[in-house]
Amino acid sequence: MEHVRKPEWLKIQIGANARYADTKRIVDTHKLHTICSSGRCPNLGECWGKGTATFMIGGAICTRSCKFCNTQSGKPLPLDPEEPRHVAESIRLMKLDHAVITSVDRDDLPDLGAAHWAETIRCIKEMNPDTTLETLIPDFQGRAELIRLVIHAYPDIISHNLETVRRITPLVRSVATYERSLQVIRMIAESGITAKSGIMVGLGETPEEVEQTMDDLLACGCKILTIGQYLQPSRKHYPVAAYITPGQFQKYKEIGEEKGFSTVESGPLVRSSYHAEKHIRFT
Ligand code: SF4
Ligand code: SF4
Repeated sequence: MEHVRKPEWLKIQIGANARYADTKRIVDTHKLHTICSSGRCPNLGECWGKGTATFMIGGAICTRSCKFCNTQSGKPLPLDPEEPRHVAESIRLMKLDHAVITSVDRDDLPDLGAAHWAETIRCIKEMNPDTTLETLIPDFQGRAELIRLVIHAYPDIISHNLETVRRITPLVRSVATYERSLQVIRMIAESGITAKSGIMVGLGETPEEVEQTMDDLLACGCKILTIGQYLQPSRKHYPVAAYITPGQFQKYKEIGEEKGFSTVESGPLVRSSYHAEKHIRFT
């Protein structure tokens, strides 16, 4: 595929204020993994400068290898039993009002990492009773008993990313399927916890396919949707098919909210955890 030139609106500011330095120090001291740095998130300067970060639990190595993702894939190390406490402590030190946790996929573990997830949520809530919590979970291979372990730890929002439209899913996602992800979102919504999802655009999808994806998510009870530009992390990753204009992102937001989402966060630099603290209003 031909290389597509990056437009002006994707040029970002690198933040370096005192809060940024504090966030970095806490992340480094506790040897925490954040999706902000492993995912080369374009908002890192802004978010860390405001004391917001998305922690990645379950280690730094994922058992899957999605073609858009910069997380290292391979055979993960054993789980660190201290991780739930370290993450909870860091949230306390950072004085976060709202925290976002995600994880690599741990298809190597008998429970796919679900008990570790539940323990992390419990530790965070115990040590940070006033912090609201959003969890961006894997599909747990669609195993209902494992998804329930997370649900029954009662985070405020549970999100599971659909990542892209149905047609492009098998081209870029590893192991996961569109249908199974929809099932995960349906389970979350049926539990009464606010369900959220996110997709990337610029992978070659059409606006009609994006609208169909919105309909599919709404039919499962999804309330919050994020839509952001796919950025190729390296030349080895799936190529960018198009840079979607800010005007088109705005259109997606209007269409989505008209269709029935409580909120749609849509813009070139939007990531699933971008401005996540605002979404708590919709729970
Ligand atoms: Fe981290 Fe999310 Fe902010 Fe990106 S948008 S820097 S992943 S908190
Ligand atoms: Fe990345 Fe895919 Fe692993 Fe998620 S499941 S961390 S998107 S490789």
